[in-house]
Amino acid sequence: MGAIIYWGLLRFTAVLIAAWALYSYVPNYGDWWSLFFVSVAVIVIYPAQLSFMKHQKDVRRASRNALCATCKHFIADNTLCAILDEHVTRNYTPCGGDAWEPIQITSVGN
Ligand code: SF4
Repeated sequence: MGAIIYWGLLRFTAVLIAAWALYSYVPNYGDWWSLFFVSVAVIVIYPAQLSFMKHQKDVRRASRNALCATCKHFIADNTLCAILDEHVTRNYTPCGGDAWEPIQITSVGN
């Protein structure tokens, strides 16, 4: 998730610099704004949206790793093992099951 934000900010900075550099070459101020917003949509927002959809797919896949999905060290949103700081995938369990600890389930009403 951090990589999506990082690359989004980097692309936005590049668009800002390019827009600033092209400002004197575009005679109509309205056209310049239109160009800016279209550039932001195509260069910043669309790739970020694609990356986010890929990330969501990776999260869904990682949660199919039965061992990690039931472990208290698994951070589902980041597909990360908290103690080994490694990404979990469907077929890869970083600790090999040695550090598995069950998720605490609390009962309601007691
Ligand atoms: S400790 Fe092991 S089982 Fe638990 S999340 Fe990390 S790799 Fe998966």
